[in-house]
Amino acid sequence: MRCEICGKKIMGKPMKTKIESSTMLTCNECSKFGKIQREPPKSRKRSPARKKPRFEEPSQEILEDYSQVIRQAREKNGWSREDLAERIYEKASVITRLESGKMMPDIKLARKLERILNIKLIEKIEDIKSEDLEPSVQRGATIGDIARIKRN
Ligand SMILES: [Zn+2]
Repeated sequence: MRCEICGKKIMGKPMKTKIESSTMLTCNECSKFGKIQREPPKSRKRSPARKKPRFEEPSQEILEDYSQVIRQAREKNGWSREDLAERIYEKASVITRLESGKMMPDIKLARKLERILNIKLIEKIEDIKSEDLEPSVQRGATIGDIARIKRN
């Protein structure tokens, strides 16, 4: 049995260590990077619920002037709102709301629009403000931290 974090042979019983959403079998030393699971999850007492896992944070953003981009591209193609709606399997009212800026497309819809209209609607957040992505507060070890530990 080897520790899933440092790869050293585990003397004695491995520790079940919970890191983010994965449970790893680790040596005693590495168990401090996560929560030690002493009981099976179903009998575990409810710990204060964590909000969203951080990997769900969006790394992609819709361009601010999406409404103009969509309308201009549609008009360039000579399509009515209905034409465009049909092509992306949406209602014409969705196009109206998109073009008036009343509705921001989600990533899925934006991807469809990008493909159909040959435009760019999605930008990666890292490209513009990478400093915001740096965790300012350490909220316990993450898989990323463990990757760093492994490399050292
Ligand atoms: Zn270890």
